[in-house]
Amino acid sequence: MILILHADTDKDGAEYRQLMDFLSNLKNIQSRVHDEKGTQQVLTEIYLVGDTASLVIEEMESLPCVERVVRVSEEYRVLGRHQDDVRPTHFEYNGVRFGQDNLNIFAGLCAVDTPEHVEQMMKALKEHGQQCTRMGAYKPRTNPYSFQGHGKSCLPYVFELAGKYDIKVIAMEVTHDKHVTEIHEALEQTGHPTGVMLQIGTRNTQNFELLKSIGRDPDLPVLLKRGFGITLEESLNAAEYLASEGNRRVVFGLRGMKTNMGDPHRNFIDFAHVPVVQRLTRMPVCIDPSHSVGTRECTPEGILDVFHVTAQGVIAGANMVLVDFHPAPSKALVDGPQALHMNELGYFFDDIRIAREAYEKRLALAEAHRLAILPPQPDPHLSVDKL
Ligand code: PEP
Ligand code: MN
Repeated sequence: MILILHADTDKDGAEYRQLMDFLSNLKNIQSRVHDEKGTQQVLTEIYLVGDTASLVIEEMESLPCVERVVRVSEEYRVLGRHQDDVRPTHFEYNGVRFGQDNLNIFAGLCAVDTPEHVEQMMKALKEHGQQCTRMGAYKPRTNPYSFQGHGKSCLPYVFELAGKYDIKVIAMEVTHDKHVTEIHEALEQTGHPTGVMLQIGTRNTQNFELLKSIGRDPDLPVLLKRGFGITLEESLNAAEYLASEGNRRVVFGLRGMKTNMGDPHRNFIDFAHVPVVQRLTRMPVCIDPSHSVGTRECTPEGILDVFHVTAQGVIAGANMVLVDFHPAPSKALVDGPQALHMNELGYFFDDIRIAREAYEKRLALAEAHRLAILPPQPDPHLSVDKL
């Protein structure tokens, strides 16, 4: 059960003390307090865990400081959507809104290689009015002899160039706690010219110790990718690990699944799960067309499969697109063959715009039908015998 307190509840006040005294006397129930610091106000939520079935919602709602009570199921307590749950489905980070109702595009380098390529990428993004990008400094590779990423040595120039071109958020994969420390240090050292969304890749979706330690760092939001060989439920529970430790600014990433059925793509595309994740949880949902398709194959009409699957995810309501571009794909140190080319950047954004507009029209159509099928309301001015 979650008790949502009135905004800006005074933790030193008598009412709050009264509430906490009451909760501490409940048998077999532990409470955990979580503060959600927004730009305008602090929202406090109290999670009651244990034998909560006997608690009556109305009674709990009448306790001092309590504005609303939500009874949660066992599944995805913090990030899930529960009955009568009006908790937000968005968050803000470094001036950018991430929500189930909007769309951000993170086009960028799979792996940082040279400062020149980073600069060309950032400059092109600014020219197209973008404020987010992807930049890999730590690369988990299948082959131990492959390039593993420049690591912390590239962070200062990546962050400074992001600042120079007004990039507000960089999605950057980490595979170890110490990478997070290095990112914090480099942000500090360069004067916070940009923000970082920590990416947990598909190979680490169930690295519970990594999830727990990143969960305890509420400063940076997280993009958690679905595990490529586990169930959706297992991946959503992995996201819940982050939230249960305190970091709720989590975006869930779909990036395709491994199958052994002779797929035409690097992974089996799972973007039909965009609305499923939005229905089950409050997380914005990201699609990664690059790592799921893995090639530059195109249809006879000349549309790349990467464009096709992006459109499929966006028309289904995706909230974030993570996509590989490279100024010189033949020189890329990681994933060059799947990278889109710089002269395709504007075309890619235009194609996404078409799909997003179609999604918005679909929403309006669904709303019109929902209103049309509501049962007719009885007219209070007509008495039964006049009908
Ligand atoms: C990536 O985005 O660079 C990446 C390695 O993705 P994934 O974890 O989905 O393979
Ligand atoms: Mn890659």
